[in-house]
Amino acid sequence: MAERDRVVIVGAGPVGLTLALLLGRAGIPAVVLEAEADIAEELRASTFHPPTLDMLDTLGLAEPLIAQGLVTPTWQVRMHETGERAEFDLGVLAADTAHPFRLQAEQHKLSRLLLAALAAEPLVELRFGHAVTSVAQEADRARAGGDGFALDASYVIGCDGARSVVRRAMGLAFEGDTYPETTILATTPFPFHEVMPGLSNVNYVWTESPAFSGTFSLLRVPGRWRASLYPAPDETVEQALAPAAIERKLQAIHPRAERYEVQDLRPYRIHQRIVPTYRVGRLLLAGDAAHLNSPSGGMGMNGGIHDAFELAATLGAVWRGEAEAALLDRYTRRRRPVAEREIIAQADRNRARMRERDPARRRALLEDLRRTAADPVKARAHLLRSSMIAGLREAATIA
Ligand SMILES: Cc1cc2nc3c(=O)[nH]c(=O)nc-3n(C[C@H](O)[C@H](O)[C@H](O)COP(=O)(O)OP(=O)(O)OC[C@H]3O[C@@H](n4cnc5c(N)ncnc54)[C@H](O)[C@@H]3O)c2cc1C
Repeated sequence: MAERDRVVIVGAGPVGLTLALLLGRAGIPAVVLEAEADIAEELRASTFHPPTLDMLDTLGLAEPLIAQGLVTPTWQVRMHETGERAEFDLGVLAADTAHPFRLQAEQHKLSRLLLAALAAEPLVELRFGHAVTSVAQEADRARAGGDGFALDASYVIGCDGARSVVRRAMGLAFEGDTYPETTILATTPFPFHEVMPGLSNVNYVWTESPAFSGTFSLLRVPGRWRASLYPAPDETVEQALAPAAIERKLQAIHPRAERYEVQDLRPYRIHQRIVPTYRVGRLLLAGDAAHLNSPSGGMGMNGGIHDAFELAATLGAVWRGEAEAALLDRYTRRRRPVAEREIIAQADRNRARMRERDPARRRALLEDLRRTAADPVKARAHLLRSSMIAGLREAATIA
């Protein structure tokens, strides 16, 4: 087999590694080029939705991932001051998925499991410390290169995240915008679940506290809580990041005599962006390289993993000569509308709902969510969408 028959994947994030394992198991040689010396350990995604767990199960990875996470059958929207809440129970999805729950686990745990599985795949080669700086294509091959290396391939797939070089080589715009607010991610081992009655592992919270701009969220992962905090209206981001300001916010969530131990602190900006197409000839995109959304609802990485499954199935058929290369355009037709209409738009609505400041509107939103959560038919419809099942089912019908 000629070296240019292989597939080159740029980026060893959760999406690139999932794709590599799928290709390797399908008998397709692949090389993963990763700029860094190891996979990223920073805290980013922490929620795995049911269909992602169903997909990972086909790779034998759902069980070991579940063993390292928190099975989370409910999530909620709540009013901080009164504790009133609308709680959604994913149990109503028991007939729709083998995993009717969210799994709270850090994304690097999946990446580590993928790395271990890839070590046993003779057709996949991982090259860390290989930053790709140039990507090109001709009629019969694509090429990715960097300092001291150049690889020919049948396809180059950009799984290289928000600042994708593959996307730039494809000449694609990354249309959309950046939200004005900065989110501050703070983690603490303090057990909020022991002091805040009725807390789920995933909580989106409205508050009147002057320490915030109306909202915060509390997400639990094994051994710690991850709080998304927003600067108060009179605070700059720099002021909000000061240890005393973080302490003030955590004390506003739960007052206590001792100071909070803060393990990680990270500000980040959020974008909503998408490319016009996921394929230009022999160059393709998956994951954050193709689409970015607000983390509200926890869908970015999940959507990228769904991209990897769809792309691996399509690319496999084309690579083996069972289908024309034009079938690769179906990948865009199936995945782009899901990213645009389900992931980006839904995350945008989630964000907007939690940023509502008007008390009467908040109350109406809460009552509406409560009615939905209490009605099994409406709750199932709501959860099929927010758990990313509805979008996948619609995409599967696209020819
Ligand atoms: C605070 C936060 C919370 C989030 N929470 C959730 C959540 O709960 N659920 C969810 O689904 N999503 C969530 N997300 C989004 C999620 O983290 C991303 O969608 C996910 O990491 C995308 O995976 P990826 O593999 O596409 O890209 P990345 O994880 O960004 O990986 C890209 C890889 O490519 C490498 N790379 C980049 N450029 C090059 C190059 N030129 N050459 C070689 N290698 C290169 C990088 O080093 C990196 O390893 C969250 C994001 C943030 C910031």
